[in-house]
Amino acid sequence: MRGCNQLSCNFLPLHERKIPMDRYLEKAANKIKNAQHAVVYTGAGISVESGIPPFRGENGLWNKYDPEVLELSYFRQNTQKSWEVIKQIFYDFFGRAKPNPAHEIIASWEKAGLIKSVITQNIDNLHSEAGSENVIEFHGTSGSFVCMKCGRIISTENIAISGSAPVCDKCGGLMKPNFIFFGEQIPEPAGSQAFEEAKKADVFIIVGSTGEVIPASWIPREAKRNGAYIIEINTQISGFTSNTSDLFLQGKAGDTFQILDNLIKQQSL
Ligand code: NAD
Repeated sequence: MRGCNQLSCNFLPLHERKIPMDRYLEKAANKIKNAQHAVVYTGAGISVESGIPPFRGENGLWNKYDPEVLELSYFRQNTQKSWEVIKQIFYDFFGRAKPNPAHEIIASWEKAGLIKSVITQNIDNLHSEAGSENVIEFHGTSGSFVCMKCGRIISTENIAISGSAPVCDKCGGLMKPNFIFFGEQIPEPAGSQAFEEAKKADVFIIVGSTGEVIPASWIPREAKRNGAYIIEINTQISGFTSNTSDLFLQGKAGDTFQILDNLIKQQSL
């Protein structure tokens, strides 16, 4: 490959690499341990080991369901049809998922002061459930509902999820899940906070994201522009791997975080 030496080729799939994976893992552990402001950025891949499939790809949800159910105009005009699918995916199915070791280790790293925040594109609430406190939910959350008429926000715990879409008990307006549907703006302050964190980061860890979703995919690039060292964890090469990541760790998020956590603990001895 043109311009490729042993070190610059760390985005290659494992079998094409010349340096053993252990060396990359040790380097990543060292970077995280010595960071002043490490930030984790997650996509659907981190929750795959919790049983939640991504939207895209071979086993993606959009192979089974029509994404139009998450279009705002479709939801308004075909509320019942849309709600049946939303309830099935995001409440019956997502609702049963539990945090996996990757979510748990990220939460423990925040408590230990190793990372400052988590920016997530996910709407499954699993970072908070695992104990992360500084979570920036760039696409909102399924953990609450918002009234489309008066803007009132109610926690999902206080909503009776039934066969029909919930309505606001104050104004009677239709309520929608508090994550963004297609065509909606990124919620504030999460949108601004995500880019501020990216600017402050000296180490930025991308986990399980294709890099195809805009503007979320601009966040790691903002970190890179501001000098952050970018570590990427993914089972496959993504849109970040060759142009944004400094170190690509190919593997499942749960396994990789467990190895990194052990290495960081060994290095602390
Ligand atoms: P995405 O950009 O979130 O991509 C998923 C990525 O995860 C892929 O690159 C894939 O290779 C990687 N991956 C799969 N299994 C993995 C594992 N075990 N460990 C590490 N990486 C793994 O793409 P999408 O699924 O199309 O999502 C689009 C948007 O919808 C994103 O904003 C996403 O966060 C959101 N979404 C959220 C959830 C959730 O809340 N859990 C689920 C689906 C989609």
